Amino acid sequence: MRSLQFTAEPSATDTVQRDSRLGDVPGLPSPASGTDRVPLMFDVIIAGCGPTGAMLAAELRLHDVRVLVLEKETEPVSFVRIVGLHIRSIELMAMRGLLERILEHGRRRPAGGFFAAIDKPAPEGLDSAHAYLLGIPQPVIVRLLEEHAIELGAQVRRGCAVADFEQDDDGVTVELAGGEQLRSRYLVGCDGGRSTVRKLLGVGFPGEPSRTETLMGEMQVGVPQEEITAAVTAIRATHQRFWLRPFGRGAYQVVVPASGVSDRAEPPTLEDFKQQLRTIAGTDFGVHSPRWLSRFGDATRLAERYRVGRVLLAGDAAHIHPPTGGQGLNLGVQDAFNLGWKLAAEIRGWAPETLLDTYHAERHPVAEDVLDNTRAQMELLSTEPGPQAVRRLLTELMDLDEVNRHLIEKITAIGIRYDFGEGPDLLGRRLRDIDVKQGHLYGLLHRGRGLLLDRTERLTVGGWSDRVDYLADPTAVLDFPCVLLRPDGHVAWIGDDQQDLDDHLSRWFGKPAN
Ligand SMILES: Cc1cc2nc3c(=O)[nH]c(=O)nc-3n(C[C@H](O)[C@H](O)[C@H](O)COP(=O)(O)OP(=O)(O)OC[C@H]3O[C@@H](n4cnc5c(N)ncnc54)[C@H](O)[C@@H]3O)c2cc1C
Repeated sequence: MRSLQFTAEPSATDTVQRDSRLGDVPGLPSPASGTDRVPLMFDVIIAGCGPTGAMLAAELRLHDVRVLVLEKETEPVSFVRIVGLHIRSIELMAMRGLLERILEHGRRRPAGGFFAAIDKPAPEGLDSAHAYLLGIPQPVIVRLLEEHAIELGAQVRRGCAVADFEQDDDGVTVELAGGEQLRSRYLVGCDGGRSTVRKLLGVGFPGEPSRTETLMGEMQVGVPQEEITAAVTAIRATHQRFWLRPFGRGAYQVVVPASGVSDRAEPPTLEDFKQQLRTIAGTDFGVHSPRWLSRFGDATRLAERYRVGRVLLAGDAAHIHPPTGGQGLNLGVQDAFNLGWKLAAEIRGWAPETLLDTYHAERHPVAEDVLDNTRAQMELLSTEPGPQAVRRLLTELMDLDEVNRHLIEKITAIGIRYDFGEGPDLLGRRLRDIDVKQGHLYGLLHRGRGLLLDRTERLTVGGWSDRVDYLADPTAVLDFPCVLLRPDGHVAWIGDDQQDLDDHLSRWFGKPAN
């Protein structure tokens, strides 16, 4: 796409002039009849309506940002990745008033047993009011998040693939696969592991290519359950990447290694599954009538930058890794939660100069850590004698409470501490959902604003009251006199001095109004 120069300040009614030097350039749509103008209608265009894009759209709408989500698929994807929401994501849902709705569709399960599938219960007293795993299929999460975003006013256009874009000082012109052009102030690529936005941006995606491919599908079986149970128990003792288990409505989920079957570039077939089942189990269990069949690999890669000017990356577009530990969706939704209020602040005009760059500074290291823990887990799932010996050793070590706690806080993302500088250990961490006078702390965060929790009842948020709420609550269960929370629930300041508080309000929430 050729460079277009735009000068107009965006607003709902603005239009921008197409660069007349371009003339009739192949690949660009013909000028709109007579006027030759591209309407400038959105603050943010999001490429991709997966969990990350939908969450981001909702977060932006909390701040009245005009959002358009472009999704290339015409229908929501029905392919069921087994997904559990881990503790931190459950907390995010509670912070936005979504938890009840999500709980209706999921099943609470124990939080432990996720690190390399080592069967250890979670330690007692995890630091959360929501210390469980919520088993819920990915398509259901995506549907609920998309509905939430639309209820808040986001526009979602399906069947629209982002094909190209061009950014300049004032905004981004996005071109769809059909040639239509749209313009916004920012573009966020939430378009998954093969992200078009990331590729067009030219951001490096270093890491390791896929070494192990796995087939996963949902289908019917032709033998009784007892026969399956006996075979599965025996095979699981030696094969970590094998499942054949009931999946509701009489269907079964099948997971088998893909090694040696069919061409990687082609979608897998039922025959591929049968062949692998026969190799592993000596029988194909009479599988038939597949509902969906898929293949996934264990490539591990991380984008070098999460932001280039007015274009940002989030979710799988920024990082990919094997599904061990069930972290990918959680990580993407948490990226969106971190980015949403910062981008909104930028658009609303109150963001401190460096705020948007804290998105990369905070989230890139988190993804680095997730990539590393999935690499470690993949080693531990190997059936080679060396990794198996390490697995046995780690299994022993996990009997130590501190080791078990460390690993579960990693997988569930409640152990994250952003670097906000010197201060008590709580600074930079998220605050758990504590009891407050009005009920639960997270109930006060639904609007995505900052919050000062003041046990001294002496401080004020003054000129920041349009962005930060105030709660005087001497009864709050806190070890500190006052705590300032960002809209994502992370502790931005701890203390009891008004001047110090004002400095920190400026740091995170910009200049006070008037
Ligand atoms: C087998 C398996 C099991 C998993 N289990 C878990 C688990 O238990 N827990 C967990 O947290 N994670 C799990 N994951 C990972 C999780 O599925 C992903 O991390 C998650 O889907 C990432 O969400 P996303 O929104 O960033 O990207 P995606 O879900 O990939 O969504 C991207 C969206 O962008 C759209 N798109 C692509 N290109 C364009 C374009 N050019 N223009 C417009 N739209 C576009 C796509 O159609 C898609 O809807 C699993 C993954 C696999 C493969």
